[in-house]
Amino acid sequence: MITELEFVPVPATDLDRIRCNGHDDFGNPLVARTSGAGAPLRCCLTLSGEGEQIALISHRPSSLGGPYAEVGPVFVHVGPCPGFTGPDFPADFADRHAVLRPYDAAGQMLDGVLAEPGESEGELKRLFDDPEVALVHVRNVIAGCWNFSVRRKAA
Ligand SMILES: [Zn+2]
Repeated sequence: MITELEFVPVPATDLDRIRCNGHDDFGNPLVARTSGAGAPLRCCLTLSGEGEQIALISHRPSSLGGPYAEVGPVFVHVGPCPGFTGPDFPADFADRHAVLRPYDAAGQMLDGVLAEPGESEGELKRLFDDPEVALVHVRNVIAGCWNFSVRRKAA
């Protein structure tokens, strides 16, 4: 059976609230900065182009709760953007090293995987072969920052 996966950025409702409030959910002001190329944007799951207006905010990506549901820094577009709706693995993130960190349904962390460039998508499919795995975070290797979440698509 093929497991269909869903790739989850910072939710649009969270972004609307943060852009409207002018600060993130943890009180950090939404400060526009001009991006260089290649900042990983968690609003639309693309890498920024030179000169785009982005901001660094704090986000808690795990909706499962529990002690592992930590808060971390993410880059987002300052203004409205199309978000991410694509059914496929975000192309801009395919050729990066990544840590794939799986969680069970209670939010407990399971064994993670270090994925080489080009291997994240295949490794994700392998992780989801385990019925214990409810959610996987795709994270940066050095800083550990969350890039996006992956879950099984609801039937
Ligand atoms: Zn965006």
